[in-house]
Amino acid sequence: MSTRAQQYAAHVVRREQLSDHFVRIVLAGLDGFASTGIPDEWVGLVVPGQFQSRYYTVRSWKGAELTLDVVVHEQGLVTEWAQRDVVGETVTVTEPKGSFALPAGAGWLLLVGDLTALPAMARIAESSTLPTRLWVESPDVVEGYLPADADVRWSTPPRDGASAIAEVVESIDWPAGEGYFWMAGESSQMRAIRKHLMRVRRLPSSAYDVMGYWRGGAVRQPRAVDPGPIWRAGKAAGLGDEEIWAKYDDAQSQAQERR
Ligand SMILES: Cc1cc2nc3c(=O)[nH]c(=O)nc-3n(C[C@H](O)[C@H](O)[C@H](O)COP(=O)(O)OP(=O)(O)OC[C@H]3O[C@@H](n4cnc5c(N)ncnc54)[C@H](O)[C@@H]3O)c2cc1C
Repeated sequence: MSTRAQQYAAHVVRREQLSDHFVRIVLAGLDGFASTGIPDEWVGLVVPGQFQSRYYTVRSWKGAELTLDVVVHEQGLVTEWAQRDVVGETVTVTEPKGSFALPAGAGWLLLVGDLTALPAMARIAESSTLPTRLWVESPDVVEGYLPADADVRWSTPPRDGASAIAEVVESIDWPAGEGYFWMAGESSQMRAIRKHLMRVRRLPSSAYDVMGYWRGGAVRQPRAVDPGPIWRAGKAAGLGDEEIWAKYDDAQSQAQERR
């Protein structure tokens, strides 16, 4: 049985610069795609000529168009792709998954995150009627992105690559009663925040969801098998993406056996 997630071919129909570091990519195609309805749902995105995916929040799925809002940072596979005029290009998207799980008794929401978390924060805020407060640490204030009545505080990261988001969380004036805390950002910061919620706030794990969205300074492991030649040979031979994936998997298994 294949363990690979369901995949959908899509093409870029629009690209829009939302702010200096934020680009909207609108996709169509996606035959058979269905939203989970979970407001922080995400998909894996594979851009042309690549095998590795990166995760992006489903900002919206409307009229058979899937909108992803992509942060452009210093370097990166999708970062570099999204800076080009990519309209008309074909990408692969994996089936959506979500994590946001509001407890039945929750009376309020606190949402905290950096620019990569903004699409999920916006969608959560739009989908909830609970009193909601938001804190966004971002190099750009993205005007009009959040609901007009959103109770939001924007802050700028202190310097390149650093974040003061843990201090922001520690200084929150916590509302009374039961609620739900949702947060996403750089992974090591998120680990520190989970500790704070468990040890200082003494929250049960059902009262919060804190996700590492990206890893600062992470050097990605060198790949055992270079996917580029397999991709090009597969395309030249007229193979479909699934067949090329299978060839890549075989090559990786053989490389592992040799180690
Ligand atoms: C569930 C989930 C949902 C997500 N939703 C979104 C979303 O809606 N929009 C979005 O833009 N991102 C989102 N992300 C984060 C995104 O997947 C990562 O930022 C991803 O690494 C970007 O890919 P890349 O190819 O541009 O850079 P990569 O090739 O992955 O990384 C290149 C280098 O850039 C650094 N880097 C990666 N991300 C950042 C960053 N955000 N800021 C600074 N440096 C960085 C890495 O440490 C690495 O050194 C989400 C992640 C998860 C897990």
